[in-house]
Amino acid sequence: VAHNGSAFAPKFVVNSPNVVYSDTEIRSKYTYRTAMVTEGENGTRVVTPRETVYDFKVDTNVPKLGVMLVGWGGNNGTTVTAGIIANRRGLVWETRNGPQAANYYGSVVMGSTLKLGTDAKTLEDVNIPFHDVLPMVHPNDLVIGGWDISGLNLAEAMDRAKVLEPTLKALVRKEMAGMVPLPSIYYPDFIAANQEDRADNLIPGSKACMAHVEQIRKDIRDFKAANNLDKVIVQWTANTERYADIIPGVNDTADNLLKAIEAGHGEVSPSSVFAVACILEGAPFINGSPQNTFVPGAIELAEKYGAFIGGDDFKSGQTKMKSALVDFLINAGIKLTSIASYNHLGNNDGKNLSSHKQFRSKEISKSNVVDDMVAANSVLYAKDEHPDHIVVIKYVPAVGDSKRALDEYYGEIFLGGHQTISITNVCEDSLLASPLIIDLVVIAELMTRVQWRLHSDDGQGNGESAKGGYKSFHSVLSVLSYMLKAPLTPPGTPVINSLAKQRAALANIFRACVGLEPENDMTLEHKLF
Ligand code: NAD
Repeated sequence: VAHNGSAFAPKFVVNSPNVVYSDTEIRSKYTYRTAMVTEGENGTRVVTPRETVYDFKVDTNVPKLGVMLVGWGGNNGTTVTAGIIANRRGLVWETRNGPQAANYYGSVVMGSTLKLGTDAKTLEDVNIPFHDVLPMVHPNDLVIGGWDISGLNLAEAMDRAKVLEPTLKALVRKEMAGMVPLPSIYYPDFIAANQEDRADNLIPGSKACMAHVEQIRKDIRDFKAANNLDKVIVQWTANTERYADIIPGVNDTADNLLKAIEAGHGEVSPSSVFAVACILEGAPFINGSPQNTFVPGAIELAEKYGAFIGGDDFKSGQTKMKSALVDFLINAGIKLTSIASYNHLGNNDGKNLSSHKQFRSKEISKSNVVDDMVAANSVLYAKDEHPDHIVVIKYVPAVGDSKRALDEYYGEIFLGGHQTISITNVCEDSLLASPLIIDLVVIAELMTRVQWRLHSDDGQGNGESAKGGYKSFHSVLSVLSYMLKAPLTPPGTPVINSLAKQRAALANIFRACVGLEPENDMTLEHKLF
């Protein structure tokens, strides 16, 4: 019986000796196939196929899950909360285009499908909702809470955000009015000075200290107890902070970071204090903003405690397009030579980003997103050669949450010709970000229930000695990359920005957990007959 009271009933069963179902677990034996490349004689590369055999184990108990948002009273915080309430209650509201029903469009987990296989009779594809591949929390069941430096209740905060239709707001207003963010920590130096007038809901103290860490930990425990929750996930959707300087002896190691917090060092940001509190509390922490919350000391602390962290910066609009389009262009053999990205927006995020240091954080997270795709194509680009790439963001209050992103992609085609692609992307920023907040929570929670070990017969001749106890995935959840602009990866491992590769990793890791091969698009059944 699952924690939330419903018995686990798999949506499908895999008919294979490698997959075993019990009342509480799905176990799979999975052969991971890669290829190792070495320099042979005369400079010829030798490619050797390699197999590693893993055991995966998924705990099928779907917990009662809480999510606590830092910046709950902001545009994203209020929009995702209203959206979940609307879905939970199956709301329908009037718009000028007619009735609109609640949905989860824009969520990979709730809005997209995976190919399960081929119909044995018709040979047509059989697709299932992404949410059904493994037992996952349903977003309607999330209990939401959080902190904000602004004390407005969520109904007032939703009015301030100016994102939702008045007819929808009227339906959720009563419930939202009863939701009030917990006081938060505010170190004015880290966010724009123009945010000061909303900072009226504060835990006393204006620099890092252990009392702040302890208060946040207590808030998480209290929220968990009050709502009878099995787990809590915390997500930063508060203002973009400036970068913290990385200073040896201050934030470079786990111990130094804890000491720096104790000493009240001025270079420890509120988001890092939240991260540390969550790591110590064992609550997965995800950073949806671009700043370097995860200083090296925070990453080391997470590894030490086996706590899960993920980040940085929601990949919602312009960058999502970019990580799909650049992948397509470069893989089409077109030599992209410049990307000029311009944005303007008029919400509070834009107001905060109109300050240089905070803009700089965003500029960094938006800038590196094509590096891996360029580096992978040595036919088009010489070593260290890369397209020109600029990012501009302007604050234009009149357009509110409706962000405008204008992008020009300029590239070289056959025989010196040129191609210019211009894209204008207009949409409500918070309606794009909210489903990502949900995906990050649902997937991060699932990852806390997935474990692995090398199979005794690991395919590498290591025999029984390879068999250890089950372990979790690495603390840094790079599997969340699809939702994030500047994916955090385990130290020393590469960053993958390509949207298609990120989705494939997500889907194929989940498939491996039920003993299915990676999705391949060979469709030989339609070619060889
Ligand atoms: P917002 O300004 O409307 O909301 C941020 C909220 O955080 C505000 O209510 C503010 O009072 C609160 N806050 C600031 N510092 C805090 C602290 N120390 N503790 C608790 N609360 C604090 O912004 P938004 O549009 O909701 O975006 C939130 C963040 O997500 C921004 O950093 C933004 O850059 C990032 N982001 C948004 C999108 C998107 O909306 N599409 C995409 C990528 C990243």
